[in-house]
Amino acid sequence: MRRCQGEDGVCFICLGTSPSPIQSGCACRGAAGLAHLRCRVPAAEALVKQKKRTRWWWTCQTCEQQFTGEMRDGLANAWWSQVCDRAEDDRERLSAAGNLAASLSRQGKYDEAEKMQREVLALEKRVMGDEHSDTLTAAGNLAASLSSQGKYDEAEKMEREVLAVKQRVLGAEHPDTLAAAGNLAASLESQGKYDEAEKMQREVLALEKRVLGAEHADTLSAAGNLAVYLSRQGKYDEAEKMEREVLAVRKRVLGAEHPHTLSTANNLAASLSSQRKYDEAEKMHREVLVVMKRVMGAEHSDTLNIAGNLAQSLSSQRKYDEAEKMQREVLAVKQRVLGAEHADTLRAAGILAVSLFQQGKYDEAEKMLRELLAVRKRVLGAEHPDTLSTAGKLALCNLFMCVRVCIELVPALVLVCVCVFACVHMMGSHEL
Ligand SMILES: [Zn+2]
Ligand SMILES: [Zn+2]
Repeated sequence: MRRCQGEDGVCFICLGTSPSPIQSGCACRGAAGLAHLRCRVPAAEALVKQKKRTRWWWTCQTCEQQFTGEMRDGLANAWWSQVCDRAEDDRERLSAAGNLAASLSRQGKYDEAEKMQREVLALEKRVMGDEHSDTLTAAGNLAASLSSQGKYDEAEKMEREVLAVKQRVLGAEHPDTLAAAGNLAASLESQGKYDEAEKMQREVLALEKRVLGAEHADTLSAAGNLAVYLSRQGKYDEAEKMEREVLAVRKRVLGAEHPHTLSTANNLAASLSSQRKYDEAEKMHREVLVVMKRVMGAEHSDTLNIAGNLAQSLSSQRKYDEAEKMQREVLAVKQRVLGAEHADTLRAAGILAVSLFQQGKYDEAEKMLRELLAVRKRVLGAEHPDTLSTAGKLALCNLFMCVRVCIELVPALVLVCVCVFACVHMMGSHEL
């Protein structure tokens, strides 16, 4: 069980300290966000009954922000266990199933999530029809899971359909339509279709700023995502500027320790590192990592991504020993928690391989890159930018190995020449 406030954390509902309460991950800061799951469940249940709205299963009644992390997943399980015995097409049962599936997907349990989401989508289509908002939400959630598994073709097709229906039924500026456009942009970006993704995300951001306001959670997410896309294309200046703005607002609105604030700080640090502003990047990464370990736990995917980014930044500064140690730890946990072929695991393996290469450990780097290339070709296809980038690195690694072999052969060649010369000389002198 992870702790937020050390050993003396107090659940704000029962005021108990044992077992240690968990952080709700909403915008209730510090000890105000600490609660037991067993205390939150009856509170949510009562509120849902009283207000007749199911959103209280994932929304905090105090700050009205969505729960994140362990609290969100725990409540999703609790809600599902209360309604799973109802009729298959019961409205609340379907909502709870969709909510639980999304939670499984966030935890990287994609197979289970996909199965559940396909069932929910089929039922929604049958009961509510193809164009009902619940059906479209179910389709969007399934597409997100497919995209996370690298099943981009099916995900993109589904997202385009959802977007087209929402544009027609709700209008182009409805928040749900904008969210659907943002999801499609993310899918396009994952496939390396950077231009189209950037263009679409810029439109989404501009509309959300106008419709929802510049400080709305969706607008901030859209700005954060656009910054990541820009950063991946090397447009660091604009990415940095955007990330600094988002970070300032999130710190003010959500607090410095909210998962969304930390994620922005992590992205900003990565952008700084890419621009060789190493000192500020390293300092920021280390601060974020300490808080993430405390708030989200050492094995949470966001914590691991931050550790990976810090390691990359250390590696760029030639602090190879600490970087390699950190990268090996991150990779081992990702392989165990997410599986060997998850996109995040592969990215971690690629980063470690590059770090080994930079240290001249060509043999291990080459082996890792070769394995990585095989998996990426199979999962992403031969034309995906990540596959091409891995192929390029492998070629470079092989070139360096050839050069090293040649250099190693030089003393041997010199020795042979000397011997031949000596023999010829001796034979020559013998003849005399
Ligand atoms: Zn409690
Ligand atoms: Zn709250």
